[in-house]
Amino acid sequence: MTMLLAATTSTEQGGISEETWRRLSDAAWAARNHAHVIGNTRVGAAVFAASGNVYAGCNVEHRFRSHDVHAEINALATMVAAGEGPAVAILVASERERFTPCGACLDWIFELGGQAMLVAFEPAPGGERQTWRAEELMPFYPR
Ligand SMILES: [Zn+2]
Repeated sequence: MTMLLAATTSTEQGGISEETWRRLSDAAWAARNHAHVIGNTRVGAAVFAASGNVYAGCNVEHRFRSHDVHAEINALATMVAAGEGPAVAILVASERERFTPCGACLDWIFELGGQAMLVAFEPAPGGERQTWRAEELMPFYPR
């Protein structure tokens, strides 16, 4: 299997300090504990807004699965409800080997953060973080 994307694990990415990544990690894993799931994939997400504030969300699943709210959208919508934006970075927390936001979540990432927004994934609290820019995950996204 070929890795199509070169994930990075550097400590300073796009002006995001390691301390900020830790804040995002803590918030995302804490929110994940509150996930309302029908299946067995709990996901947490935390957004770093341009103001410096952090907004968290978890997945909220419904028995009518089309109503499911993904953690990334939950966190981004919470930022909007607080009157903030744009989003600078989002960290997604889930106990999976690999995870990138789905197409719908990436639509919101492009809408509220733009193509350069950082998208990170952690497979465990404080685990090895993988980070991409939104444009790396959807290189042909309409501009
Ligand atoms: Zn999604």
